[in-house]
Amino acid sequence: MAEIAIKGVAKQFGDFTALHSVDLTIADQEFMVLLGASGCGKTTLLRIIAGLETPSQGEVWIGDRRVDHLPPRERGIAMVFQNYAVFPHLTVFENIAFGLRMAKLPQAEVTRRVTRTAELMHIEQLLKRYSGELSGGQRQRVAVARALAMEPDVILMDEPLSNLDALLRLEMRAELKGVLAESRTTTIYVTHDQVEAMSLADRISVMNGGYIVQADRPTQVYRNPAARFVGSFIGNPPMNFLPAQGTGDGRWQVAGQVFDGPKVEAAEFAIRPEDLHPAEAGLDAEVRVVEPLGPHTLVTAEVAGQPFRAVLESDRAISPGDVIPLAPIPDRIRWFDPDTHKAIQ
Ligand code: ATP
Repeated sequence: MAEIAIKGVAKQFGDFTALHSVDLTIADQEFMVLLGASGCGKTTLLRIIAGLETPSQGEVWIGDRRVDHLPPRERGIAMVFQNYAVFPHLTVFENIAFGLRMAKLPQAEVTRRVTRTAELMHIEQLLKRYSGELSGGQRQRVAVARALAMEPDVILMDEPLSNLDALLRLEMRAELKGVLAESRTTTIYVTHDQVEAMSLADRISVMNGGYIVQADRPTQVYRNPAARFVGSFIGNPPMNFLPAQGTGDGRWQVAGQVFDGPKVEAAEFAIRPEDLHPAEAGLDAEVRVVEPLGPHTLVTAEVAGQPFRAVLESDRAISPGDVIPLAPIPDRIRWFDPDTHKAIQ
């Protein structure tokens, strides 16, 4: 049982606060992704869980053990980094066996585990090769195999695919998902790539400025952002936001159109670019740029002087300078508090 509990973990580097009292529980066998822009604190949090960094405050628990005072090797964790960290002068077999030899496992057990994980990662034909001769993708497979061979309670991964080219990333992503689901190892995976996060995660923790802004299932994070930041960070292109004027009783005027909304004092209107369609009447979008993307067309426009994007079906001719009324799908409209930037339910 390898549930991970992070309780009030904070980290200061001198005067700078990299993490503000983070609370997060990762369930046994869960695949949790830490997602956020560069500098938001995701690597710091991962390093604290691994024991490579000490928290300024708070506790880290793995299962029923408090581990924040334990050295990394006693935490039951294996790590995979962005730069593979495989040893070029060792064979693939010895690279995968490295941690097992350190742990002084008997030879038969070493062979069993290396063979099994190499098969899992489809590199069994490479076991005798030197790692220095391998491609980036093959080396990354070795790094993952080495982590899995330790049969850890928890695997921590820090941007493990970011050195691979786009096609290989896609292939490895699907493969990692399959392998980790099969091994049933609790995984925490750091990335700044939202597509990777959406595709891999059971849950995503979206981080900003040392805080976890939302921790939820990918569809929830996408459909129901808890804060404006989440809507503006996730989605490509991101959510559109427009000012709204309340006309009383939960009615709101947005760019000359009236919508039903929350019964509060002030609210901001939000809609995802793909949740709009051309209609008789709607938000009048003054088209600036039209980008055909194959099945869809990305339209960059202005609505009431605000930047606004729509992803529309490609069957309609649209040109810069056109004014097209865009109707939002009513149940996809979201509202945010203009002061706190939190979602209004
Ligand atoms: P990236 O995707 O760029 O790795 P990140 O979200 O993982 O970003 P962290 O590496 O966790 O970010 O860093 C969070 C903040 O803490 C950054 O502003 C960073 O400059 C700062 N920081 C990290 N390590 C140290 C350190 N050892 N000393 C001082 N500041 C640090």
